[in-house]
Amino acid sequence: MTRRLLPKARDLRLPSVAATSKSPTVGFVSLGCPKALVDSERIITQLRAEGYAMSASYEGADLVIVNTCGFIDAAVAESLEAIGEALAANGKVIVTGCLGARRDGAESLVAKVHPKVLAVTGPQATDEVLALVHAHLPKPHDPFTDLVPPAGIKLTPRHYAYLKIAEGCNHRCTFCIIPSMRGDLVSRPIGEVMREAEALVKQGVREILVISQDTSAYGVDVRYKLDFVGGRAVRTRMATLVQELARLGVWVRLHYVYPYPHVDEVIPLMAEGKVLPYLDVPFQHSHPRVLKAMKRPACGERNLERIRSWRAICPELTIRSTFIAGFPGETEAEFEHLLGFLREAQLDRVGCFAYSPVEGAAANALPGQLPEEVREERRARFMQVQEEISAQRLARKVGSRQRVIVDEVGATVATGRTAADAPEIDGVVRFRTRRRRLQPGDIVEVNIESSTAHDLQGVLAGAVAAERSTLRRRRTAAAI
Ligand code: SF4
Repeated sequence: MTRRLLPKARDLRLPSVAATSKSPTVGFVSLGCPKALVDSERIITQLRAEGYAMSASYEGADLVIVNTCGFIDAAVAESLEAIGEALAANGKVIVTGCLGARRDGAESLVAKVHPKVLAVTGPQATDEVLALVHAHLPKPHDPFTDLVPPAGIKLTPRHYAYLKIAEGCNHRCTFCIIPSMRGDLVSRPIGEVMREAEALVKQGVREILVISQDTSAYGVDVRYKLDFVGGRAVRTRMATLVQELARLGVWVRLHYVYPYPHVDEVIPLMAEGKVLPYLDVPFQHSHPRVLKAMKRPACGERNLERIRSWRAICPELTIRSTFIAGFPGETEAEFEHLLGFLREAQLDRVGCFAYSPVEGAAANALPGQLPEEVREERRARFMQVQEEISAQRLARKVGSRQRVIVDEVGATVATGRTAADAPEIDGVVRFRTRRRRLQPGDIVEVNIESSTAHDLQGVLAGAVAAERSTLRRRRTAAAI
């Protein structure tokens, strides 16, 4: 018996959207419990809102979605049978729902039984199903929404973009009021994050800057839940996300990474050149008592040891950090401890703030509040030490050839950044272009001729055209 496909919009009490004879048409088989039905409703609602028509027959559909159930053996058998029926009658089938999440060894059970399905997702995967439909059956032109790029409106230059992977924070640092404003950590599903990243790359972004309040905690709140990326089941977890982003073939830069032990997993990817060898680790202080008073995450970690072991694996690693000088109760000896840490750690890029009481922060009630001139004087001493370190570390790059992403192009001089420089907060490279025509976002090689405390100067080494076409090839591969 041929299964009845979910009927037309009016039967689902969805608002009728005029479909033209040219509208791409989707057939839908929905099996399983009410939760699965709600998933079906969401997918169909969105498809109709985008202008897709629904077909009550396999023959009338350009593509069929089967929402499966995997609860008991009978449900599994029925779902597999429904997929087989749709494949035989239509040929273009996307599978979603609980059975989609079932594995047989490393492989999806559905894909093993029916290798001809276009793609398989798990339950509650509305966004992923829609992305798959878009990929296999492009959505009709919408004069209103098509003016908005798929990754949304970005306020950064076209060639780089911030990718926010989570909101909120589970920590309660005493100088910070972010958790009271934004709440506890809420990680975005990895599938959703990756779809945004892919859309950005398709739009021309060549550098993705991963941000959140605590990037290394990504996925903790959802217990590293399984989600789907390109039909593969993957965990919502920082190291996994970094591996997935590394496939996109663009620069990937990690910000706000706390030095938890599992951060060690991403260092080899940096050493292999898959993501930028750059870590933005906000240490804030070095002295254990001050870190405890700040209630900092990872305050018990052996940070110097960890930095050494990271550099042993990835010698080109750039570490950026931020610190607070003059925290309430900080003694001169504790501040000296911080300066000692700085000299020992040889951090590449550092920002330092004199402690300033934020309204509502718990640290305001701590004893030993320091006068403003002491806080400012410590900040100035700190920055003097850091400036010397930064100048020495940059001077080592003189004579080397660096890959640089171009930010601005003048008549004969362009400005860009190396892997060691995040936009806005780190240094830049100014280089003569030898009158070559460059564009923002080009990645070129620059011979470094001189340095200051924060910036580099040099001359274009060439290989521009090759770099552009390599990037284009990578972007095409990522899109596939
Ligand atoms: S400073 Fe502390 S509390 Fe504030 S966002 Fe960062 S980790 Fe969370």
